[in-house]
Amino acid sequence: MNTSITTPEPVRDVFARPLQDLRISVTDRCNFRCTYCMPRALFGADHAFLSRSALLSFEEIFKLAGALVPLGVNKLRLTGGEPLLRRDLERLVAQLARFQGVELAMTTNGVLLPRKAVALRQAGLDRLTVSLDALDDATFMRMNDANTSVRDVLAGIEAAQQAGFEHLKINAVIRRGVNEHAVLDLARYFRSTGLTVRFIEYMDVGATNGWQPTDVFSAQDILALLRQQWALEPVTSNPHAVAQVYRYGDGAGEVGVIASVTQPFCRHCSRLRLSTDGKLFTCLFASEGFDVKTLLRSGMTEDELTNRLRLLWQQRTDQYSQLRFQAPRLHRPQEMSYLGG
Ligand code: SAM
Ligand code: SF4
Ligand code: SF4
Repeated sequence: MNTSITTPEPVRDVFARPLQDLRISVTDRCNFRCTYCMPRALFGADHAFLSRSALLSFEEIFKLAGALVPLGVNKLRLTGGEPLLRRDLERLVAQLARFQGVELAMTTNGVLLPRKAVALRQAGLDRLTVSLDALDDATFMRMNDANTSVRDVLAGIEAAQQAGFEHLKINAVIRRGVNEHAVLDLARYFRSTGLTVRFIEYMDVGATNGWQPTDVFSAQDILALLRQQWALEPVTSNPHAVAQVYRYGDGAGEVGVIASVTQPFCRHCSRLRLSTDGKLFTCLFASEGFDVKTLLRSGMTEDELTNRLRLLWQQRTDQYSQLRFQAPRLHRPQEMSYLGG
């Protein structure tokens, strides 16, 4: 297994976009039911989950990552579902941390961090993003539909900091008419703490959240709110970064917006997603994934896998968000909790 490599020249897709990030969904289950991501039921039927036997093993995930690093992947992010629900996740972290020059990150709702943060840090996890959509329980519970209090997430953030995770990012999805007041609450709370809040436009991901364009509280609206309180200066970042980052004029740190709907970033999208059951998706809005589990279980060598996946990326033409409002959506995309947010 080749874990130590010099930075390879990334493979490029049809629009010359390099492959750089792999998001790995380690479970489709969650201890929240955020209404924008994983509604409890649709038309009376319970949300269905994958059976345990459908999941990729840690060894399979490690082999796949090993096949993708030579194609340019330099960032791995564990996600889900709620990644901390996957048993012994730190064992996978320890395996993936062996790739030199590859950043290893995780996005979590934070509730299990008091139990897990130290083990994750010791296993070699580099960075953490914690999702938190409001600072008052009434709004937060309306968003997470799980009766979980803001206190539990804040305890997770604190545990992560104590375990040595620095510069945590906080993700907040903003829905018009539901939690736009959280913009100023969260910004005020996390200013001057060294943590960066990123406000995300609510997206039409999946097929069950009933998204309407009017539900989007745009990045422009978010920035206008922030600017009523504080001076903001744009920070230049890498063109493949999804967040637009701003520095508070008074030196209180940074804040970001992710304008996935109103200012799509398909032109620079360098992400590949691995679903819990071993399908690769070249776009968050794709309806079909590439079945890599069968290849992994067929005994293919890592080099053979690399060659097959090079072809997959070279043929990629996805640009859903860029075209979102130009034509009606005819396909049914996968749920985000399944293919990894
Ligand atoms: N459970 C973990 C969490 O919530 O952080 C990781 C998985 S979650 C799918 C990853 C990210 O996707 C979260 O920050 C969540 O807020 C975001 N997300 C989920 N559904 C979304 C939507 N419809 N629009 C925008 N962001 C969404
Ligand atoms: Fe769970 Fe994260 Fe989706 Fe909320 S956003 S339901 S925490 S996977
Ligand atoms: Fe990337 Fe697809 Fe999102 Fe565009 S719509 S930024 S191609 S994941």
